[in-house]
Amino acid sequence: MLKITKFGGSSVASAEQFKKVKAIVESDDARRFVVVSAAGKRSSADNKITDLLYLVNAHRTYHVDCTPLLEDIKARFVEIRDTLGLSFPVEKHFEEMTEKLPRLSPEFVVSRGEWFTGQLMAEYLGLPFVDAVGVVMFHHDGSLDLERTQSRVRETVMRSGSFVMPGFYGSTIDGDIRLLDRGGGDITGSILAKCLGADMYENWTDVSGFLTADPRIVDKPRPIRRITFDEMRELSYMGASVLHEDAIFPVRDANIPIVIKNTNRPDDPGTIIRETAKAGEDEPLITGIAGKKDFLTVHIEKNHLSGSIGLVRKVLAIFERYNVSIEHIPTGIDSFGVVVNSADVRDSIYAIVSDIQREIQPDQVRVLEGLALISVVGRNMSARPGTSGRVFGVIGEEGINVRMIMQSAQEINIIFGVNNDDFDRAIRVIYDNFVATDESAN
Ligand code: ASP
Repeated sequence: MLKITKFGGSSVASAEQFKKVKAIVESDDARRFVVVSAAGKRSSADNKITDLLYLVNAHRTYHVDCTPLLEDIKARFVEIRDTLGLSFPVEKHFEEMTEKLPRLSPEFVVSRGEWFTGQLMAEYLGLPFVDAVGVVMFHHDGSLDLERTQSRVRETVMRSGSFVMPGFYGSTIDGDIRLLDRGGGDITGSILAKCLGADMYENWTDVSGFLTADPRIVDKPRPIRRITFDEMRELSYMGASVLHEDAIFPVRDANIPIVIKNTNRPDDPGTIIRETAKAGEDEPLITGIAGKKDFLTVHIEKNHLSGSIGLVRKVLAIFERYNVSIEHIPTGIDSFGVVVNSADVRDSIYAIVSDIQREIQPDQVRVLEGLALISVVGRNMSARPGTSGRVFGVIGEEGINVRMIMQSAQEINIIFGVNNDDFDRAIRVIYDNFVATDESAN
């Protein structure tokens, strides 16, 4: 059994958290390849090291002295080292970095959060430190060079047999540091799992997996035990965030399951994400509910629209021209809507509407604001006729007006739109009627 074990920022935020990581790693021989994020927040009022390093770069841009900031960052690492009785020369490396600071790239500076955390963790766990430079490889345009990464990872593993590697960054062939997206340590773990052909990718964080609904809306929602990659993608896209969205792609290709676990409660089962559910497992009807507020619909009516060719394309081209991504296109007979994120068209909506009027001469264009989208996700819904009827039944009984309905052919979700003001109530009523009462979710 071979696992890639990735610890997020909160799991490595302090010496106390390092101790939990050590106990987790040492409790399973399969945990020999460890990936770390930069030390994160120790409390809600604290700062993430990565954020502070971005701030260092901002100081550099505006020629503001960043010595006090660097001292604060150094102090975080020194504290971890001293509390754990380690010997890594944090001060020496900071001195070198401060000296070279004017010549260092912004990416290099930001990557030091993961680098120092990785060095300390490697010493603490007694595993070799392997830098991601020269292993996680990027093309010069910033995209990942998977082929080269694959061979570098394999060479590294042959050499070291185990490692602690910093997540979130890698390098070009010339050794220039490149960063993944924010939260990209999750992606590093996934890439390594794929390249090593791991049996499992464990992602340790500060929650016990995905929840069936947002805990700010539903009181103590149930955790999701099992979820497929497709379902997870739907839920993450619609607002449930535990894992970086892009972290599923590498492991999914290689059919490697991801397990989300809580460093602070390692005995909680967590959530397992994999391609399909195992046959015979009792699966709940609804896996989870997620959603987002603040969409708007540009609603277009034109007589004989249904028989005309190319009108929808022309409208979509207008949105493309303004660089606006489209969420949904609900259609009627002689009308259709284009649903977009309100924030994306804040500055361009008047121009878009006037272009539509000029280019397709509709009978009417209306902008309907304040729309919230809710996605009810569950792969088992397709096999049980009447599910959407029941969902809309409870929404109707609650007196909530449904403004639009969409279901993809894949039938793993029902998406519908309600007024922003009805958003929380709609989620709660579905949760109470379908999730809270579903015994197979246990
Ligand atoms: N440290 C990086 C961030 O804060 C990457 C990560 O934590 O995964 O975005």
